Amino acid sequence: MYWGSVRFFKHLILSTVALMIIVPTVLAIVFGVQNHRNKALVQEYENHLATDVLPQMEYLTGVDYSEVITVPTYSYQEDYPDLYVEKPDGFVAVESEKPVVYLTFDDGPSANTATVLDILKANNIKATFFVVNNDIEEHQHLYKRIVDEGHTLGIHTYTHQYNTIYSSVDAYLADFNELYEKVYSLTGVRPTIFRFPGGSINTYNQHMYVELIAEMLRRGFVYYDWNVSSGDAGVTYSSSAIENAVLSGIGSKSKSIVLMHDSSTKQATVGALQNIIDALKDTHEFRALDNTVQPAVFTYKDNGVAQ
Ligand SMILES: [Zn+2]
Repeated sequence: MYWGSVRFFKHLILSTVALMIIVPTVLAIVFGVQNHRNKALVQEYENHLATDVLPQMEYLTGVDYSEVITVPTYSYQEDYPDLYVEKPDGFVAVESEKPVVYLTFDDGPSANTATVLDILKANNIKATFFVVNNDIEEHQHLYKRIVDEGHTLGIHTYTHQYNTIYSSVDAYLADFNELYEKVYSLTGVRPTIFRFPGGSINTYNQHMYVELIAEMLRRGFVYYDWNVSSGDAGVTYSSSAIENAVLSGIGSKSKSIVLMHDSSTKQATVGALQNIIDALKDTHEFRALDNTVQPAVFTYKDNGVAQ
């Protein structure tokens, strides 16, 4: 074969034609496979979005939520690598011959906490405290006292500033982590349960609550709203009004998660506590929450329940 021969051109033309057929075919196959892969990824992504949008449904139904949001990866999932707790194996049905009451105290510790703890101890009752940051020196020991006396200590929030904590998932995690670390350094305990300020769905977090709840579930934490409110969040109330609200709220419920407050202005709550215990102690059982208790969880239509 030599340059310019007929055979050379024949080969050149045949080779060119062959390449014109082979190259597009190979490319089509490669992109076809790629496209198929992309479709599979899109499908997977859509499946996860469905899971993302329905984390509360999963929560309520007890379906395994360990796969909640693995795709896509949000940047905040990489933050706070120590902010994980072991997920409960599932919620355990309450075994009790009597209806169970979970008293929960938000916003402490405070100047009232010691008295609340004294009352609980005198009645041999365990309860749950969803704590905030308190910088007052003489209150620092109260975090540990709560734990030492057998109560459950859960995270409420560090700052309790709605506008800040609900501005983004990152902001919420930063706030949560700060208190989580403080509680661990003071008590040696890593809380596994928490309560959202204002409840899990409120007027401040409507733009991000689905994402936020999914992220907290992904990290293994269990959150508790409530199904009985003491009504002590407002400004005007009395001990008797609190007592009535709690007792009528509990009514014939077999399981009550009661919202009360333990901040320094809530003397009326402290004043109602012994009466509430007296009214229920023969007919009900008081327990502390732990992460195996099926939570009371707000759904969207409950939005507007006061903190
Ligand atoms: Zn609160």
